[in-house]
Amino acid sequence: MLTGRSAIITGSTSGIGLGIAEALAKNGVNIMLNGFGDSDEIDGLQRRLARERDVRVEYHNGDMSKPHEIEDLVTVAETYFGSVDILVNNAGIQHVAPIDGFPPDKWDAIIAINLASAFHTTRLSMAAMKERGWGRIINVASAHGLVASPFKSAYVAAKHGIVGLTKTVALEAAQAGITCNAICPGYVMTPLVEKQIPDTAMARGITEEEVVRDVLLAAQPTKEFVTVEQLGALAVFLCSDAAAQITGASIPVDGGWTAH
Ligand code: NAD
Repeated sequence: MLTGRSAIITGSTSGIGLGIAEALAKNGVNIMLNGFGDSDEIDGLQRRLARERDVRVEYHNGDMSKPHEIEDLVTVAETYFGSVDILVNNAGIQHVAPIDGFPPDKWDAIIAINLASAFHTTRLSMAAMKERGWGRIINVASAHGLVASPFKSAYVAAKHGIVGLTKTVALEAAQAGITCNAICPGYVMTPLVEKQIPDTAMARGITEEEVVRDVLLAAQPTKEFVTVEQLGALAVFLCSDAAAQITGASIPVDGGWTAH
């Protein structure tokens, strides 16, 4: 269905980004992986994906907090593949702390990686997508792009910001064959979530088991974590022709969390 298309997926060495990369590759999309991690593991991932799915898989180690490295990522992807048809802005980090103790450097890093990087990748990819008359931009926002939780000021601000960016880009690109949508997952058990459990326990003065039961899954009426496979399948659908009229949307995949 998407054979011959090419995608950049920021933050795709782990978690949701990797799940989306796996799903797009399965549908014939060439993949530019990005993110941090052990170089041997990334090398292995690159080779496995290419072999199993018979697509081109490249890797760029650009730091999504650095605009010139983001520019290099887009340039290199265009050079390797000839085009970037699908852009998935997924790289993200988290820091959990009360606002009066929230470290300013963490605020800056979260705004840069979770929000500003999507501005840069989008501004750098837009002209070529317009020229070709086809594009799919998928921003991995969060349920925290729609509602807030305490102790996550930077993350909630960045995710609300990316929902706004999604709408603006959708309007600007509406007549150019380009859609721009945000996926808003509830909790997915990835390294990002695992790492915040001890901090949340400390901030709230409860045990880590209580964080999973009373904080994470308390928000999700289904009492189940979202899976990366479910998010990958949604990304593939958003890239399909069937989704050509879905644009500017923020789609919750949160077990009913934001229905409250
Ligand atoms: P993760 O920690 O498993 O993966 C994050 C990815 O981003 C990794 O590949 C990491 O190397 C990369 N990354 C981090 N900083 C980077 C930087 N400066 N430059 C380039 N790459 C960088 O996390 P995840 O849970 O898969 O999160 C992915 C996205 O999904 C994030 O935007 C996150 O906010 C969002 N999200 C996650 C959840 C969840 O419950 N896990 C829920 C809603 C939204």
